Order: sequence, then structure tokens, then C-alpha cells
Amino acid sequence: MALTGLQIQKLLPKTNCKECGSNTCLAFAMKLAAKKADLSQCPYASEEAKSVLGAASEPPVKLISIGPDGSLKLGGETVLYRHEKTFVHQTAIAININDTDSPAIIESVLRSIRDYSLERVGEKLSIDMVAVSQKGNDAQAFVDLVKKAFDVTHCPVIIRSNDCASLCAASIALKGSRSVLASATGDKLEKLRASAAENGNALAVTAPDLDALVALTTQLRTSGFNDILLQFQTQGLAEQFQTNSIARRAALKDQVKPLGYPSLRYIEGNDILDSIVEAISDIAKYGGICVLPVFDPAMLVTLMTIRQNLYTDPQKPIQVEPKIYPVGEPKPDSAVFVTTNFSLTYFIVSGEIENSGISAWLVVPECEGMSVLTAWAAGKFSGATIAKFVKESGIESAVTTRDIIIPGYVAQISGELEENLPGWKAIVGPQEAGDIESFVKAKLK
Ligand code: SF4
Repeated sequence: MALTGLQIQKLLPKTNCKECGSNTCLAFAMKLAAKKADLSQCPYASEEAKSVLGAASEPPVKLISIGPDGSLKLGGETVLYRHEKTFVHQTAIAININDTDSPAIIESVLRSIRDYSLERVGEKLSIDMVAVSQKGNDAQAFVDLVKKAFDVTHCPVIIRSNDCASLCAASIALKGSRSVLASATGDKLEKLRASAAENGNALAVTAPDLDALVALTTQLRTSGFNDILLQFQTQGLAEQFQTNSIARRAALKDQVKPLGYPSLRYIEGNDILDSIVEAISDIAKYGGICVLPVFDPAMLVTLMTIRQNLYTDPQKPIQVEPKIYPVGEPKPDSAVFVTTNFSLTYFIVSGEIENSGISAWLVVPECEGMSVLTAWAAGKFSGATIAKFVKESGIESAVTTRDIIIPGYVAQISGELEENLPGWKAIVGPQEAGDIESFVKAKLK
């Protein structure tokens, strides 16, 4: 729970020595409460202050690091709703293979996982993990497959089996990869905890209800083991949605530490649409790792897009660098378009210009990552600001045309733009980027 400035002040020496850069201990305490200072700036902080403030600053959902270099982060969340602040570590997406699948299918899925890459609004999106489930009886073949999955994809593995010995053998085989063992029930808890701890892996725990799950995680926490994932047992979409929400609310609002861990969910079933809906629900409501039953590019595009939208910081619009972008291979007499530096707008407009079959120059002034109408309403995308950017960018000497195509939504700035950019003519383009192709055909070809 966050401490107030006054509560923090009681833990400080109260000598007002100023060595931390603040005039008083109270002023420093206020900065600590606002997370604008660090306790290490006070050389006289007591051990009690360090331990109390350290615990208070821990996120209510434990941060778990996965993968050989620990770069896949799960949890660490501090808010229930994205708009309160931001979600910090997106749901990891994994694809499942079974040891009973044919070698050809296994080979093909592993290569697809390794090679999958989707570029969206300037970000490269890929599959985070591979899950290997034991359905057959050959423990050695299962362990070999787990190793192969890691070797081919270089992704951390979620190792799933009902057989404790197989899980422990696979845990040893993947020592150092910081993978996940799934899943520990009460009777296997101690053995799997020991194996996970010894080999540096995380452990998913599962139980029929939240009370039983809390009992298991409490046992692990008491033993000092904290690399935990929660695997809820639910029936149907409504219960899945409800359980994810109850657990996250309990961790964030009621400080129920035994539920303050990321979750692991397997999407099972043969219907692709049902699977997508279940996965969307999991991603939207706090999923830690979501394991998909098959490699399906259409499903992945949907889920990656939703995940990206949810996990961008609502206070920081994703934006591209303000500059002149060549689209295709423009020449000095190619058309000049202008739009804002909101990533989504930039990528849609540049993509539509490309689709229209021409090369062009795209002028992208600084608009603080706002879309066209928002930037215009905020005074960041006016005739004067665009003209200033055009003059400073040097494009006037690089092109022979003096036509500049502005988005149809800001047709009203054309006069102001021409006034501030002598010699240029503002051409009003389409309102929607989707109409650029027909605009090009009608006016530019
Ligand atoms: Fe107080 Fe520590 Fe700052 Fe000195 S350095 S004013 S003791 S908080």
C-alpha cells in the first residue's frame, strides 16, 4: 500500500540536514510519496525505513522475469484500469504443441513460432513463448521435445505435464532458460518448487478455487519462493472473466499478496472463433501468459493488435519522428502530402499512398503524437505550424512541385497555410486515408 508523505516522514531521521537535496525531511518525504525521489538519497535512512519503504514500493502484482536473460517481464502491474495510469507488461502470447503431435506438425509449428514477425505502427511484434504439453507416456521423448522447442524457437518454454517426474526432468533439461513448470497442485507442490528453484524456473500453481490457490501460493511464499504464476480452473467464458477480475482486484485493492502474481491460461478447444474470444477476454482482463492451441496467423494478428492497443501508455501517444518521409522512391517532382506524427495516422497514410501506386514525399511535423483533428484543435497542426516546419525541413529545395496535399479534415487551414508558405498551393485531400487511392487516381495520375 502506498504511504503518505507524513507516514514516510515518521520513518526519516527528522534532522533536516539537507544532504538529500531537500530543505527538510518532510519535503523529502513528500517527494518520496510522489515517487519523485529515492530513499538512497538520504544517507541516514534507517534499516527500518529501507525495509518499510521497500515493501511499500513493491508493485501489488509481483514482477516475474522469464527467459534466459530475464527479458520477458510479466506482472508488475499497479492499476486495475488502463486509463488510471498504464498497464506495464503485456500478456505473453504462447503457442502450444503436444508430444503426441506428428513430427511434421511439430517441426512446422516450431519454425512458424521462430519466424513469426508482425510490424504494426512501427513496432515489431513476435510470439513470446512456446508451450509443450505431455499427452503421451514417453518421458524421455517429452524432455527431448521440450529441449528441441527451446533450441528451435529460442523462446522460454511452458512445460506442462501431469507427471511430476517428467516435469522435474524437463526442468533440469531447461536449466538457465527461466522457463515455466505447469502446474503444481497440492500433492506435487514441494517437489516442483524444489525443482523450479534449483533450475531457475518459475512455477505455475493451480487449484479448484481461489481459496485453495491462496493456500498454495502462501505455502510457496513462506518457503521464500516467489516466481509464481496462477492457473485458475474455470468453466466457461463468464467464470474466466470473473475469476481473473476478482483475483486482480483482490491483489490491487485489498493487498491480498498470495493473489498478486501473473496468471497462466491455456486456451483449449477446437473452435477458432471461441478460442479468439477466450484469448481476447484473457488479454483484456489481466492475463499474464495466454497459451493458444494452434499457430494461426489470422488469430495472431487479432490478438497482437488488441494487446498492443491495451498496453500502450494512454498518456504517451505512440508517435513517429517529425521529418520528411519518402514513400516509395520519390523524385523532385513527386507529390507532397502532409499529416501528423501520431504513429497510427502516419502508418495508415503512408501505407495508403504506397497502395495508390505512386511515390511521394510525406511531410510529418511535430504534433505531439496527436491525430489530425485533435492536433488541429490543440493548435499543433495549423497553417502556420505546418508552414514553419516545411521551411525549416529544407524540402523546398528538394522538390520542384509547389502543391502540398493536406488532410480533408483540416480543409479550413488551406488559406492560412498558403499565406505562411508563399508560392505554395494547398490542395485539400480526402478526409479518410482509405480514399487516398481514389484521390490519387482522380487528381494526380
Ligand atoms: Fe532528512 Fe535524510 Fe534529507 Fe537529511 S538527508 S534532510 S535526514 S531526509
